[in-house]
Amino acid sequence: MDHVFVIGLGSNLGVREHNLSAAVEAVARLALPLAVRLEALSCVYESAAIGPPQPAYLNAALRLSACCTPEALLEALHAIEAAHGRTREVHWGPRSLDLDILWASEGRQTEQLTIPHAQLLLRTFALAPLLDVAPELAVHYAPVLERLGGPPPVRGTLRYDPTSGSCELAASAQCG
Ligand code: AMP
Repeated sequence: MDHVFVIGLGSNLGVREHNLSAAVEAVARLALPLAVRLEALSCVYESAAIGPPQPAYLNAALRLSACCTPEALLEALHAIEAAHGRTREVHWGPRSLDLDILWASEGRQTEQLTIPHAQLLLRTFALAPLLDVAPELAVHYAPVLERLGGPPPVRGTLRYDPTSGSCELAASAQCG
């Protein structure tokens, strides 16, 4: 059976928009091993980093359906992070690429995984792109986003071309 997942993407090192685009392309390539189907891409938001002083983040989200467990998907996401230079030296330190499971059609509460993501209700940079790609969740999350001050500034939208398999940041603010 297919499950819906919303993946949060973040980058604050290197060419941030390239890192986000490369992650979308890599997730789309999971079509064969995990039967992943990309369904929607959010706007790209910019916000100040949490934690030690470091560059600002670009964040986005993608919605996919897949015929796999969240653990299998997380393993694939960690491999994509590693392939894009992600290291885990500093807790909440800068990272070229961070991929999290923000939400899924089935929740999870295990030692390895909390779905919805444990920090979701605290983070405008996660809530705003989540609602772009899963507007049906607005009834639960839009009031929380408003209480936190609303969405961060939009810097564009991710556009994926399935024919070429390439993704880029477009200037448009039309998301979802
Ligand atoms: P991070 O350093 O933010 O990429 O996450 C570190 C660890 O958080 C992962 O190895 C997971 O085991 C755990 N984790 C718990 N819930 C989630 C989630 N919803 N999405 C991604 N990682 C999660």
